Amino acid sequence: MGLEVHVELHTETKLFCSCPNRFGAEPNTLVCPVCLGLPGTLPSLNGHAVELHLRAARSLGCKIQRFSKFDRKNYFYPDIPKNFQTSQYDLPLAYKGWMELSPGRVIGITRIHLEEDTGKSTHLSVGQEGELQAGRLGRSDRTHLDYNRAGVPLLEIVSEPDMRTAEEAYQYVDRLRELMLWLGISDCKMEQGSLRCDANVSVRPEGQRELGVKAEIKNMNSLRSIRDAIESERVRQIEVLESGGTVVQETRGWDETTGTTISMRSKEEAQDYRYFPEPDLPSLLFTDEDVARVDAALPELPQARRERYQKEYSLDQEAVDYLTMEPFFGEFFEACVKSGAPAEEVAKWMANTVSRLSNETETPLQASHLTPKNLGRLLTLIDTDEVGAKSGQKVLSVLYKEGGEADAVVDKLGLRQLSSADKLRPMAQTVIDENPAVVQQFKDGKGKALNVLVGKIMKQTKGAANPAKTREILEELIGETE
Ligand SMILES: [Zn+2]
Repeated sequence: MGLEVHVELHTETKLFCSCPNRFGAEPNTLVCPVCLGLPGTLPSLNGHAVELHLRAARSLGCKIQRFSKFDRKNYFYPDIPKNFQTSQYDLPLAYKGWMELSPGRVIGITRIHLEEDTGKSTHLSVGQEGELQAGRLGRSDRTHLDYNRAGVPLLEIVSEPDMRTAEEAYQYVDRLRELMLWLGISDCKMEQGSLRCDANVSVRPEGQRELGVKAEIKNMNSLRSIRDAIESERVRQIEVLESGGTVVQETRGWDETTGTTISMRSKEEAQDYRYFPEPDLPSLLFTDEDVARVDAALPELPQARRERYQKEYSLDQEAVDYLTMEPFFGEFFEACVKSGAPAEEVAKWMANTVSRLSNETETPLQASHLTPKNLGRLLTLIDTDEVGAKSGQKVLSVLYKEGGEADAVVDKLGLRQLSSADKLRPMAQTVIDENPAVVQQFKDGKGKALNVLVGKIMKQTKGAANPAKTREILEELIGETE
């Protein structure tokens, strides 16, 4: 399998005009003469889109073409108002990259090019049409067109046919998605079409070197459907070959309800598109310094960060996965650790309590009142037994929702534990003196008797005494009386 992944770039405006790049507006409200391809208009390239393209390319190890250009891909389809799509043909900006799925399992990336998205067609059957426009129409099926998406910047990431299982294809798209989100290149919402994927699938008999005839599968709109569609297509092609038939090169659509792929049309060849250089846009020229500047601005990538956290802090997989869900989580974590809190505890508290509070309050960590400094301080208080773990949950909830200094919140809620031996020792001595029978039971080997004494001190201090410390002091004092 080789995959073609389309990613809509997260820019303010479209690729060649100043129309907003926004999803969900009323149809045909985000359009202008340029993106509608009206005569006499000229495109003007969005520099931010090129920046994002370069970031994506370098994060996937691609080489950058020092000279690249745009080309016209000509085809007539109602969702292409210009009758051609401005894309890149023989000199894509980025080429020859790679993505590592797991240690040693590398998928080659053939090229990444920049192009404009098409409009969106909505096909309505007679019945639906009737519902929408009661009484007005109903002769035949109709297609509604929305050009808001026409001209939105789009990256096409083409992989080598290196994937061998549907699971690998799933992982590959998942990793790409993570990377694009991480770098702020795209919001990658598959349900809104800002990440789309086509798969080229072929099978071959064991031992055969050359790849078999491929079919291209479209219309997969979730990670799960990518996996299911590829698996279903693999089974179909094997059945065709084993029953003596031949696989034809074609485009097939994935039908979620039947769980099968359906033939849509025979596949176009490049010559059908009559590519030629776009005369209305200048060529793109990059120097080594440009590429070095892009590299220097790239943050640590998720895979590298995962490996570093495992090595540097010996965190378990679950904690590492949580901390690398978003770049911000890792930054928060590291700032906490820098403030002196134990790394393992910070990771545990972030993955559990902080994550729970974020869901409960529907407020992401970034928007909460919690700071690395006050979480760090709270965990230090817990680590030194000044605050119990259970009380810590309450304190954290306040810090998350309202903010404040960790120490002040602990005192305000009266949750500081009594751990100092100087304060606990006289109390313990009094309890021992007043309960000789219980002390005797303990001495006779009834370990549980100690709980009675601990309980009395807990009651006296209204729960503030540190139970472990109290127990330790009681045992010590009783031992001395023997
Ligand atoms: Zn426009």
